[in-house]
Amino acid sequence: MPTAPGGPRLLLRRLREIMAEPVGAQDRLDKIVILIAANMVAEVCSVYVMRGDGVLELFATEGLNREAVHLTTMRAGEGLVGLIASTAEPLALSDAQSHPSFSYKPETGEEIYHAFLGVPLLRAGNTLGVLVVQNRTYRVYTEEEIEALQTTAMVLAEMLASGELQALAPVDTGIALRRPVHQKGVALADGVGLGYVVLHEPRVVVKNLIAENVEAELSRLEEAILEVRTSIDELIERGDVAHHGEHREVLETFRMFAHDQGWLRRMREAVASGLTAEAAVERVQSDNRARMMRQTDPYLRERLHDLDDLANRLLHRLVGRNLVVGTSSLPDNAILVARSMGPAALLDYDRSRLRGLVLEEGGPTSHIAIVARALGIPAVGEMENVTALTEQGDAIIVDGAAGEVQIRPSPDVEAAYAEKARLRAKRQEQYLKLRDVPAVTKDGVAVNLQLNAGLLVDLPHLAETGASGVGLFRTELQFMIAERMPSASEQQALYSAVFAAAEERPVTFRTLDIGGDKILPYMQAVEEENPALGWRAIRIGLDRPGLLRAQVRALLKAAGGRPLKIMFPMVATCDEFVRARSLVERERAHLSHHGHPLPSDLKLGVMLEVPSLLFQLKEICALADFVSIGSNDLMQFLFAIDRENRRVADRFDPLSAPMLRALKMVADEALASGCQATICGEIGGRPLEAMALIGLGFRSLSMSPAAIGPVKAMLLELHAGGVADLIAQELEHAGGGETLRPKLLRFAESHGIPV
Ligand code: PEP
Ligand code: MG
Repeated sequence: MPTAPGGPRLLLRRLREIMAEPVGAQDRLDKIVILIAANMVAEVCSVYVMRGDGVLELFATEGLNREAVHLTTMRAGEGLVGLIASTAEPLALSDAQSHPSFSYKPETGEEIYHAFLGVPLLRAGNTLGVLVVQNRTYRVYTEEEIEALQTTAMVLAEMLASGELQALAPVDTGIALRRPVHQKGVALADGVGLGYVVLHEPRVVVKNLIAENVEAELSRLEEAILEVRTSIDELIERGDVAHHGEHREVLETFRMFAHDQGWLRRMREAVASGLTAEAAVERVQSDNRARMMRQTDPYLRERLHDLDDLANRLLHRLVGRNLVVGTSSLPDNAILVARSMGPAALLDYDRSRLRGLVLEEGGPTSHIAIVARALGIPAVGEMENVTALTEQGDAIIVDGAAGEVQIRPSPDVEAAYAEKARLRAKRQEQYLKLRDVPAVTKDGVAVNLQLNAGLLVDLPHLAETGASGVGLFRTELQFMIAERMPSASEQQALYSAVFAAAEERPVTFRTLDIGGDKILPYMQAVEEENPALGWRAIRIGLDRPGLLRAQVRALLKAAGGRPLKIMFPMVATCDEFVRARSLVERERAHLSHHGHPLPSDLKLGVMLEVPSLLFQLKEICALADFVSIGSNDLMQFLFAIDRENRRVADRFDPLSAPMLRALKMVADEALASGCQATICGEIGGRPLEAMALIGLGFRSLSMSPAAIGPVKAMLLELHAGGVADLIAQELEHAGGGETLRPKLLRFAESHGIPV
């Protein structure tokens, strides 16, 4: 069996010399294939580059007919080259022609070659092309040879990424690295943003690929592995892992991987073949990413993600750069791209330069989504592999309504979105004109439109939208974005600032709704099988009254002589409300005793989110000053669907008869007892749903700022009586769980109501 003269190390050294020569791109590539063929003792070496249209084109060859260069092409999946590109795995065959995927290209003259070894040109997990060597004999390629060719492929991939070969590609397609990508995820925050990628955690760019001294690189790698292992051990041992936002379980997995012999061996082998320590980490990481992109099992994907994180840690150690993007380097039209991100990190960026946010993780009810909505930043989540698909500075478009991104869009796509953004801006202008128009239906029914808020940055929306007040202030957001538990005086300072910003408009504060999916990073997490049904919200408040008492006191003090409205989340029984109310009463008495100014009027309400309250309606309406329906949770518990779980979250329609009947019970009881009922869940902010709610008898809705304009535009064209009749009739006849949506849509269309 022939052995490579000089082996991979010599090959890499010669490659480095060729890379530095002042020659044109085609000449350089031609020299490279000659070099590889000679080094691998192969008769053929060819480079296929993936063009922007996904077609693989022969860019250079030693051994095949030269005339085939830039002529021979393969579609993705076609032939052995196409197979390698689509699987992103090496392929070694002693007889290529007997492989079922072999596709004969007569112009290449390859019929005389039998043995075939091809490897993908991978960069950050993306396939940029395929590198092939062939031999006349029926030979078997060794593991070492496959490894050596992969290492060489990495150097070639970097050459491709540098853009040097761009000029050799057809002008209309370019090469794949710059290919436009259209991808769907989930909508997090409405709006269209056009701009340029800013990676929240920029990848370490490995510039130095080829080792000067292999022994020295091996010890650099070993040192870095040891340091990363030690730092993980320390984090676990210190036990304050929650403080770092890293759960113990994740760190334990990290520790396991950091000792994974297969992974370590692959990196060591890559160094032994002549790469620097960082290039070796990146090579193995790139293979992993390619596997991650093709992995459909969510558990295995998650593990590959962990491995990717670990490789990043190693790269940071080896290259040792500070990777935080300062606001100074933030472009004017920045679109933040991240795997995941906390709300506090988002708030650190200069809002005025942010045009969008794209996350690999993050569902619609995640905290980051809530903050993005509050800041009015178009955002999409669950965008698979977006951090691998994009490069710093790439053009990108975020469509927050459709939950889509366009990466490196073509000019016509960009023009279409620019038009969409212009139209949106025009619509916003029209909504702005409605700001001071009273929210009254065509038949004279006044509807109170309020805002949902949770941060101080939400408050300017009151004046912008003309909302009459804040119907739901989610106090937990202050806790969720803080590094540590906000002190009583910090809480009071926020509430005072909210009162000041709201001016004369009323604000309804909800006490801490933590637990479930709302986790405070600095609080010891409680392991629960079903956190949504676990120790959360008012349950924590009543069991740990110190926390609730401090918050209530801060609210009472901040209100000073103004009216104050407080409501309690996740109340399941009247008794819970009574206990919470007496806690407030005791605090009020305490402050009064010490001469503090008290709220001029104090109203205590209950959130209706747990279905058990539907069967205590008369009693709870008699006890509480107002009821606010948290339809997000009510839907979750009524239909037993996890609101965070995309598989089931949209399975049932809030406009279906069972939900509408539940809501009607509340509207009827509120009317009968004179207890005000508001809706503060997401459904109140969707025009068609809001129309139905008005039809059920609700006269107060609280919603996200962006929803006020569309809901007001809807109700200005609505006859409340008409939709009330329709719903009453339909509910009477609806046999099972069917949805009234089509009928309501038809009603809206036939009456010219914009929904
Ligand atoms: C709800 O459940 O509808 C609600 C308004 O509360 P949150 O979304 O904060 O749980
Ligand atoms: Mg809720």
